[in-house]
Amino acid sequence: MNSILVTRSSMPEFDEYIEEIRDMWDSHWLTNMGVKHKQFQKKLIEYLKIDNIELLTNGHMALELGIQALGLTEGEVITTPFTFASTTHAIVRNGLTPVFCDIDPVTFTIDANKLEELVTERTVAILPVHVYGNICNIEEIDRIAKKYKLKVIYDAAHAFGEEYKGIGIGSYGDISCFSFHATKVFNSIEGGAVAFRDVSFGKTIYQLKNFGIKNEEEVDGIGANAKMNEFCAAMGLCNLRHIDGEIAKRGKIVERYCYHLDGIAGLRLNSQQLDVKSNYSYFPVVFDERKFGSNRDEVKAALAVCGIGARKYFYPLTNTFECFRGRYENAQVPIAQKISRRILTLPLYADLSMQDVDKICDIILKCKKL
Ligand SMILES: *Cc1c(COP(=O)(O)O)cnc(C)c1O
Repeated sequence: MNSILVTRSSMPEFDEYIEEIRDMWDSHWLTNMGVKHKQFQKKLIEYLKIDNIELLTNGHMALELGIQALGLTEGEVITTPFTFASTTHAIVRNGLTPVFCDIDPVTFTIDANKLEELVTERTVAILPVHVYGNICNIEEIDRIAKKYKLKVIYDAAHAFGEEYKGIGIGSYGDISCFSFHATKVFNSIEGGAVAFRDVSFGKTIYQLKNFGIKNEEEVDGIGANAKMNEFCAAMGLCNLRHIDGEIAKRGKIVERYCYHLDGIAGLRLNSQQLDVKSNYSYFPVVFDERKFGSNRDEVKAALAVCGIGARKYFYPLTNTFECFRGRYENAQVPIAQKISRRILTLPLYADLSMQDVDKICDIILKCKKL
């Protein structure tokens, strides 16, 4: 039995990648901001329609060093528990306190209408996530941030290539952090980046990703090592040539899923947002057991029996993690709790066949007991 995984990395033709890395055998320049790094940076600025970008080893370091480069060293950061571990860890690893805000039941992003009541005199920033590529309530977040002079750090790991009102998604907030991990819509094997407008922020994060080294004799930041290497940048350059085609293929798959599953009682699909150019990064389904007859875990198990991987994404909520025991469990996030127990993301990648989508939907529909 051939198995279908929840995701599968997009890759260029083998020869295209080999051609891209050929020069490195002449130059012997493998990392530390080489030619590929610079080319990839330039191409991304064009593609993402943003002012500036710094490349990093991964999306997590974009978040972690991005927070540091904004000069945030103490206080509270209002964020969402309905996210990947990375988002919350980046806050805590900077010595900051996450304050969890509930999510919007439709977009699954932070509920901007519940955000303002969480602002205290210790609040220094807001860290929302564009979940599944659904764009946060940018206008309201911006209004609150301006009113209380807070930094806004978008976790844009799911939002590569998206636009809101014709503007690159990385242009909103103070900074936006992208992930180019192998499992994401766009990958550079491992990789990440932070988009920003403020040129001085750029200088700071550039140094922080290289140990805080300012020049040969001066080190003025407690940095890390988070430089994207040339092989990853080369992979990014290759994949970027094909990204529009890959996203278009994902769009067709999403259409096919909707054709089978839209309107089925007990299933709720992701809704298309107004003014958003989507990247079709995930296909989440919320299962309502009372109307569908089977719950999320039963559907996941039925798929697993047929060799199909689906993911409880995001479950559990980050505030309930073992490593935070005794710290944040009392966060008031009832909607996030409810969604995280009911949501499943289905397999979605550019080369997923329509027959496989049909098969997956067939199995899900057989779980309908009402
Ligand atoms: C993938 C992801 C990250 C981390 O990115 P990496 O490149 O894997 O380090 C952060 N936040 C979210 C929401 C993600 O999905």
